[in-house]
Amino acid sequence: MDNKTISNIVSLAASGGAEGNGISEVFSRVYCAVKNTLGITPYEEQIGAALALSGHNMVQMQTGEGKTLAAVFSACHEALNGGQVMVLTFNDYLARRDYTLMKPVYDAMGVSLGCITADTPREERREQYAKQVTYLTAKEAGFDYLRDFACFEPEKMAFPEKLNFAIVDEADSIMIDEARIPLVIAGDIAAQDDGSTAEVYQKVAGFTEADYGVDEDSRNVYLTDAGADKAEEIFSCNIYDADSAALLAKICACIKARELLHEDKDYILRDGAVLLVDEFTGRAAPGRVFPGDLQAAVEAKHGLKITSRGRIMGNIALQYFLRLFPKLAGMTGTAVQSREEFDTIYGLPTEVIPTRLPCQRTDHPMELYYDQDEKRRAVISAIKQAHEINRPVLVGTANIEESERLSAELEAAGIPCTVLNAKNDEAEADIISRAGEPGAVTISTNMAGRGVDIKLGGADCHAKSEVEAAGGLLVLAAAMRDSSRMTQQLRGRAGRQGDVGESRFFAALDDEIMTRNNLRSLVSGRHYPAEKVSGAIEDKALLKEAERVQRIAEGAAFDERVNLMKYTMIGEKHRSMTFEKRTALLEGTWHSDMWQKHAPEQYAAAVKLLGEEKLRQKQDIVLAALLNEFWCDYLDYTAYLREGIHLTQIAGRNPAEEYNIACEEYYEGAAESLPERMAEKLDELLAAPSPADYQPLMPSRTYTYLLNDTGEEFRRKPLLLNVFSDNEEIADGNQKKSEPAPEENSAKPEKKGFFAKLFGKK
Ligand code: ADP
Ligand code: MG
Repeated sequence: MDNKTISNIVSLAASGGAEGNGISEVFSRVYCAVKNTLGITPYEEQIGAALALSGHNMVQMQTGEGKTLAAVFSACHEALNGGQVMVLTFNDYLARRDYTLMKPVYDAMGVSLGCITADTPREERREQYAKQVTYLTAKEAGFDYLRDFACFEPEKMAFPEKLNFAIVDEADSIMIDEARIPLVIAGDIAAQDDGSTAEVYQKVAGFTEADYGVDEDSRNVYLTDAGADKAEEIFSCNIYDADSAALLAKICACIKARELLHEDKDYILRDGAVLLVDEFTGRAAPGRVFPGDLQAAVEAKHGLKITSRGRIMGNIALQYFLRLFPKLAGMTGTAVQSREEFDTIYGLPTEVIPTRLPCQRTDHPMELYYDQDEKRRAVISAIKQAHEINRPVLVGTANIEESERLSAELEAAGIPCTVLNAKNDEAEADIISRAGEPGAVTISTNMAGRGVDIKLGGADCHAKSEVEAAGGLLVLAAAMRDSSRMTQQLRGRAGRQGDVGESRFFAALDDEIMTRNNLRSLVSGRHYPAEKVSGAIEDKALLKEAERVQRIAEGAAFDERVNLMKYTMIGEKHRSMTFEKRTALLEGTWHSDMWQKHAPEQYAAAVKLLGEEKLRQKQDIVLAALLNEFWCDYLDYTAYLREGIHLTQIAGRNPAEEYNIACEEYYEGAAESLPERMAEKLDELLAAPSPADYQPLMPSRTYTYLLNDTGEEFRRKPLLLNVFSDNEEIADGNQKKSEPAPEENSAKPEKKGFFAKLFGKK
């Protein structure tokens, strides 16, 4: 912490705050505003944290130390210097809470403040984003970003300005644990089918079981050597060529539609349409379709007309959405454990803020048990002991199932408890805020209740001394999780602001993480118990290895995330180029001249009909719509490419590199075809009964969702990860050729800026 600056700020504040928009001046005025409006005095640690936020760091500040307030200093400083700020909270409840709590301070500072939650109507959002500082979740902001891409009226776009500065609260959760969850926008715009699906379907009729195989867990179809030969003969092509990737995807989709998808199980036919059956509810899900070629393939199977259908119009993982902010800062109670990741992926250095008061929490080392039953017995006995002296207990489990099993056993033993299962933010916040009451037993999965303070003796501290006498809050981490960060987060729930407290950490030899990483193989036989042991395991060597498992898992997950970037960076680059062009068209900062250049005669005819100005507007909107079509095609294509790309290793190539090249080629090729497609649209316009009313294809309805909410797509995410990481290794082993770094790949498209060439430099 920069103590000199901090004391300067405090002394400026003592004389009523200084004028000007430098950091010390603004902070000194915020300091005064906090005192005047909230009646509390900011701690030096909070100023230190705020300075670190303004310096674009990942700030580690323990739970309960007052991060909400620290963010206000930094947000005001940015706002008063002309930059928009989004404070991205963990959930909607916290967005609303922090907005409400801090509003008086912003008001006193003359900084306008907005808040957006899932139920904020579309038409109000623009207004909220136009405020100098806006509180909302990263998810809502990401969805609005995607919606702008499907919007055709610039005045309805959510973000009136470019993204600028985001302060991410509970940053490790949002930037690491949830970072890869893709946000999706889909719309009911027609998919063009050139009739080739029906043709391919006919042609693969002769493929037998010898010609294809099925991926065990993903249920995806791939061709065997025999199948590949057959395909090359029938379609006279080189099937593993990048040029054939779309065909290969289609072939696999057709075989899958024929062999793996069953009427009345996976889908039903109603009124000549294919309706997908939701695998979780078992009901037909109108509006949902099989992704990409698969829908058309099923339609071909039943000789149906290939329909227009809902298509994915855009998607973005939270990680990439956050990377769109030129200025970024984060804050969380647990950052150091993931320091390297914040640095590598987000370019954020980690700064640790000391706690204001010395920590009085006792953290016990991990206790290891033979199996789940033994472990649960130990956890329950710890709860009983605490409960006898009315000491509050918070238990963190690995999942909802385990929470419920534990609660059932406690109920049976006559100990009432509350189980949190992440359904309702607000109800959950209420329960968590009371977790410090005497005798309270609260069971939750690790993540539940983030951002909500647990005060000793209840939300109003009425029984503080009683709880203190019993030893403060006892936290029990009841399973080893994939990262030590999660365990630490849980431990940090006790001992806030110098409170007394204690934490214990229970693991078992059959915890999921132990079996997945094969703990047994890591230790020599004599250290691993041959038969059931009751009570805690004492073997030092085994304990050490068990702890190492967590570090192995952490490393593997990190590598996987970095590895995945090799497949996603290229799409991110393409998306931002496409989005930018489209936004510029709608906002009128850039205009298309493709009709003038590539269809001069029709253009002249159209000018006569509509006049130049009207036609310019038409042309821009038509290109904007075409860019949507273009992007839908790109997403379809790349999705299939990812499914099929693992096959390229058969041909001895590096899948990541291959994938990047194929995406680049597709993008370039499709971009080059735009003038021609635009000319076709102009013909359509001229042929329309009333050219002045000609409208390009637009979605009449869009909907957004998180990819892991849905059935078919849900299965694709793990597939993506498995296929990529596994085959990467194979490819690496086969050929000692070094992997291209993502930067190299993004540098590659320097193929003389095709977009610039095409559209003319702005
Ligand atoms: P964190 O987000 O770091 O876990 P919060 O921002 O939720 O912590 O703050 C925890 C509690 O501390 C809140 O009840 C808040 O009102 C209180 N608090 C924060 N800063 C101060 C302060 N300077 N003086 C007194 N109380 C404070
Ligand atoms: Mg907080």
